[in-house]
Amino acid sequence: MPADSPEDTLFSKIIRREIPADIVYEDDLCLAFRDITPQAPTHILLIPKKPIPQLGEAAAGDKALLGHLLYTISEIARQEKLDDGYRVVINTGKNGGQTVFHLHLHLLGDRALGWPPG
Ligand code: AMP
Repeated sequence: MPADSPEDTLFSKIIRREIPADIVYEDDLCLAFRDITPQAPTHILLIPKKPIPQLGEAAAGDKALLGHLLYTISEIARQEKLDDGYRVVINTGKNGGQTVFHLHLHLLGDRALGWPPG
């Protein structure tokens, strides 16, 4: 994908190290870094390196990648010692509150989280 194309979000810039981020995990398929505006004492974003804009735009061929993201976020939770529990959130589209259109999983922990969400 060319830099500055419409699909080129700030998360793609983080992947290319053009924007700094506090990276906590990386492998061939994904990257995790601390949210710049944390909503909990631990708030990490996990993104695929493939720029899928939102969950509903994932293709059948992305199933293994989606599984990898879910498994990886559980590994990051273990690494962060979120032994008392945590929440994984995927905001999707306007009503879902998504603001950055590069698929990402939020990992929130280190405090009790309310339900229902806002
Ligand atoms: P969402 O609202 O689900 O699209 O989440 C986007 C998240 O990206 C928000 O929680 C923002 O705080 C976070 N965010 C925006 N810019 C940055 C950045 N440069 N580094 C880390 N997190 C960011």
